[in-house]
Parts: sequence; structure tokens; C-alpha cells
Amino acid sequence: LDAGEFRRQGRLVVDFIADYYERIDEYPVRPAVAPGFLSRQLPEAAPARPEPDPLAAALRDVRDLILPGVTHWQSPRHFAHFAATASNAGALGEALAAGLNINPFTWAASPAATELEVVVTDWLGKALHLPENLLFSGGGGGTLLGTSCEAMLCAIVAARDRKLAEIGEERISDLVVYCSDQTHFSFLKAARIAGIRRGNCREIPTSMKSGFALSPKALRAAVRADEAAGRVPLFLCATVGTTPTAAVDPLGELCAAVSGRGVWVHVDAAYAGAACVCPEFHHAIAGAEAVDSFSTNPHKWLLANMDCCALWVRRPEALTAALGTNHDVILKDPAASAAAQQDGGVVDYKDWQVALSRRFRALKLWLVLRCHGVEGLRGVVRAHVRMAAAFEAMVRDDARFEVPVPRQFALVCFRLRPAAAAVGEKHVRGDEVEPNELNRRLLEAVNATGRAYMSSAVVGGVYVLRCAIGNSLTEERHVREAWSVVQEQATVVLATART
Ligand code: PLP
Repeated sequence: LDAGEFRRQGRLVVDFIADYYERIDEYPVRPAVAPGFLSRQLPEAAPARPEPDPLAAALRDVRDLILPGVTHWQSPRHFAHFAATASNAGALGEALAAGLNINPFTWAASPAATELEVVVTDWLGKALHLPENLLFSGGGGGTLLGTSCEAMLCAIVAARDRKLAEIGEERISDLVVYCSDQTHFSFLKAARIAGIRRGNCREIPTSMKSGFALSPKALRAAVRADEAAGRVPLFLCATVGTTPTAAVDPLGELCAAVSGRGVWVHVDAAYAGAACVCPEFHHAIAGAEAVDSFSTNPHKWLLANMDCCALWVRRPEALTAALGTNHDVILKDPAASAAAQQDGGVVDYKDWQVALSRRFRALKLWLVLRCHGVEGLRGVVRAHVRMAAAFEAMVRDDARFEVPVPRQFALVCFRLRPAAAAVGEKHVRGDEVEPNELNRRLLEAVNATGRAYMSSAVVGGVYVLRCAIGNSLTEERHVREAWSVVQEQATVVLATART
């Protein structure tokens, strides 16, 4: 890295990003491009030699070719999926880590990076009011991974090896895992990677009536049925803030339902874990003292730019027993090993994850926590929840719409009432435009305007539009405008449905 050139080019990049954010509200949130639009505009092979002033040329291409084809996740009008929040501290923390470019796979490979991760995962755990037994200070501990999917995979592999050590490796095909039909698909993917038979993955049905939360009674019944058939219950993935509707599974009752069986309980709080910075949301993780692991994505709602997933485990030794490697002589630093042993051991994060190499994510999270403080993060969460409540009130005020599932956190699920197609002078037969199809058309019409971008889910057979408020730049006016877009497009879609 050439320091002088880096200074010059760094300024270009910083200015480019700042200009982008100043104009982000002008872009249609979702690009109107067809597949292949970019590949057709780029050369077929990389240049053999650098171009003159390549960075400036590339930035021009980012502006002219790439930005017109991206979905603007940081737009204040992006309400789809769950947000990937950004902040100055998050972006600059990423830049700092990229600049230092270290690889802290063991304590010795970068002592300060490892220790910062230990400190910052405890800081975050305390800020979220996690039980002490998940923190280093209470005998557990946390690590920073890229995604929730990785966190689930690490947890399930730890649970699997712990159980197989007890019952014998040959019984792997007897292991059963449990989740609900609302659990993120990444859990079943993790289970498959961990060698759990497809037929031994129980997706317990939920219902609109129970707000799509996993029922402890249904879980208990499923576990007992498996035990009666000679199978071995291994793992429960409970969710705090499901992807379709942000439903909250009752952790305390679920842990009680499997208690005494050695079932590993993991909490996937990818989105809603962040809300626990606010005392008024602590109830969402009531009972977490009994869980074995917990993960949340600070890149979703805690201003830590992509990517950052925090995983805490109650017994780190279960994780390191499954993922630890001990024959890598090349990695060992004799002086550091001796010092570590004297000091009662150190964390080697390579043994907490799938890969060896890893990013210095702690720097970014540490910067975010220092620059915003826990109070600052509470302010962010509360502002989004307030805006979501305002959006929900606007939806409820329009007789054509309904909110079929209660709003959770800052996610509003809503739709045109089934009867809406029949409201007005001209009635249509129920079979002409089916309600789910009508709402599908509404979402497409809203997103095609480029003035708001939302997503959808099908829950209990019902198609809903999802308005997830969580972007750093979103203000009340954007939420009001998004609602106006929905209303305008609903009028158009309903009129079209009647003709
Ligand atoms: N779990 C939940 C509840 C989610 O909402 C998501 C993604 O939105 C995930 C897991 C997957 O997260 P990741 O992309 O970090 O693996």
C-alpha cells in the first residue's frame, strides 16, 4: 500500500461515498434493469495493464454503470426485508479494518484484535441485557461472524458433537432438530450441512391465532413423539423476530418444554435482538438464561455496516470441541503459547468458527458503540418503532386495508382486505381477482414507482406486504410518502381489478 497514493485515492473514494449519500433520495429505490444489463456494458476480460488514473475511471463507471443497477439499500425509502443499517462509524470502522488488514485467527496472530472482540462482545451482550452466563464475564462468551447462517451452523455442529460424544457417532441419523414453520430457511440449511437427515427436521406449524409464535405444547408433543420412536432430540432453533412477521417465540416456555433432555436451544434474534437495547423490549428475551446460544446481526439494526453477526454461547468449550483444530503447528507461536498458558488460556477465535481466516470486525462494532453509546442506539430503535406505529395507524385508518398480524418492533405487515375488491360502485365476483393476487399486484405497483420499496410474505396462506422501517436516513416524511404511494397504487390496482 502506497501511503501517498492511498491518501489521494482515499479522498476520491470518501468524496464519492459522501456525494452518493447526499443524492441517495433521488434514485429510484429499485432499479429498472433487465438481467444482463451490466455484463453487456463491461469488457469481456480484465485489462492486461492498469488504465491511466484507474481509480477515477472506475469511480466514473460506478456512477454511470453500477449505481443505476443497484437496489439502494440505504435509501430512506427502502422498507423491504430487514434493513442493513449504516452509520459513519460503521463505514469508517470497515475502512479502518480494511486498511489494517490483519487476520486475527488466534490470539497470537493479533492479540489486540482478539481481546477487542472479547471485550466488545461482552459490551454488546450487556447492552442487550443478555444473561450473564452467555458473556465471558459469566463463563460463556461471544464472537463476531459474518451472518446468522454461520452462527446457526457453528451452534448446531457444537450441539451435534456434544450429543454424539454421549450416544455414539453411529447414531447421527437418529438426531432430530426442531424449529417452526416461520424459522429462517438458513436453519434447515445449517442442519443439512451438519448432517441431520432431511426427514429429521421438524418444522412445527404455527398459526395466525398465536401470532405465528412457536407453541411450547406442540414442541413438547413433537419431542415426545420422536423419543417414543427411538430418535434423539438434538436442537431447537427459537426465533426472536421471525423474518415474515417478526413473531417472538416464548423462550422461557420453550426451554422448559425440552428441559432435562440435553437439547441445545439456540436463539436466532438476527433482526429483533437489537431492540433489546431498550428496556421496554427486554420481555422479548425473557427466559434466555436457559438457552445455549444466541445470535443477532448488529448489521441489521445497530448501525454496524455489513457484515456483523454476534454469536454468544453458554459453554464455549462445546464450540471449540467441535470446531477447534490442534495440529496446525505452523500457526503456533511458542512464546505466545507459553504466555497464554501462564495466564490461564486465551481465546483462539479460529476454534469458534468454520474458517481459519477472519476479519477484524470488532474494530467496527467497538467504534459504533463508542460513537453512538447505548443511549444513541436506543434512540435509533425507538425512532423506527415510532415511525412503524405511525405507518400502522395510517393503514388502519383506511377501510380498504387491514393489519392481519400485530405489528412487532418496526415491521408492519398489511394488505388490502379480501373485500376491498368488492368495495365501490362496481362489484367483482370473488373469483375474479383472488385477494393474494390483488396484494401481489399492489406490491409490484408500489415497487415499480421507485418511490418506495417493500417486500412480502405469505403467512398462514395469506399474502402480506411488509413495511420494515429501519434505515438510518428514514424520517417521518418518507414513511408518510410511502403510505401515499401505497394508497395511490391501491386505487389503481383496485380499479384495474374491477374492469
Ligand atoms: N434469521 C432471521 C430471523 C432473519 O431475518 C435472517 C435474514 O433476514 C436470517 C436469519 C439470515 O441472516 P444472515 O443473512 O445473516 O444469515
